[in-house]
Amino acid sequence: MTTLLDTTPASGPTLSTTLVEALRNAILGGELLPGSKLRLDELREHYDVSLSPLREALTRLVSDGLVVTTDKKGYRVAPVSADDFRQVTALRLNLEVMALAESIKRGDEKWEDALVATYHRLSRLEAVDRSGDKLPAWERAHRAFHITLFSACGMPLLLRFCNTLHDLGDRYRRLFLATNSPDRNVPAEHEAIFNAALDRDAERACEILRQHLSRTGANLLSVLPEAGTPSGQATRRSTRRRVSPAAQQ
Ligand SMILES: [Zn+2]
Repeated sequence: MTTLLDTTPASGPTLSTTLVEALRNAILGGELLPGSKLRLDELREHYDVSLSPLREALTRLVSDGLVVTTDKKGYRVAPVSADDFRQVTALRLNLEVMALAESIKRGDEKWEDALVATYHRLSRLEAVDRSGDKLPAWERAHRAFHITLFSACGMPLLLRFCNTLHDLGDRYRRLFLATNSPDRNVPAEHEAIFNAALDRDAERACEILRQHLSRTGANLLSVLPEAGTPSGQATRRSTRRRVSPAAQQ
């Protein structure tokens, strides 16, 4: 059982927000498998919560595209497919790149400071072995870096779409690129995007980000089954799939 209340300070995020994050992480990391039925009783017991915050959390994840409703008022983890991934990648290539360009144009000193801090954390984690227990910290740092890159775009709606698309794309990477062999120097790409953003060179930063997303997209499509994905009755996976550093984008 995961007791969320123990980790939710009174002045911090609400229980529902904490629950959303816990469920999001379980879906992104593949602990909750694509297409699997989300049994409310099991989830209530696992997270030690009542039905109301659980339904609220699931509704938020439906709007983020990570959970779908069924015709019997139930919930499933959103399925995955090659077509869906192509759509996610195409949107990321447009919206994340647009948001980065705007961010570089509008970002103030506070944004620069946040970018320096998130890149510093990411590069420190990329300098050492990122597998096993160290992987969740890398995943958090990687997400924070990418989201900070476009966070100063000044358009809340665009920012929301970019956050959602980043998570949708990340789920595919974490689920399907576990054994892919390295074909590029990912830390060097992060460094190049960071330097170009700090130099306020939007054209260069956007071009490297485009390459960063495109290559991962191509790698993923080469291993993604065209005819859909396994869905099963099991709602939780007992062991986390180990993702190699090569899979990281
Ligand atoms: Zn990346």
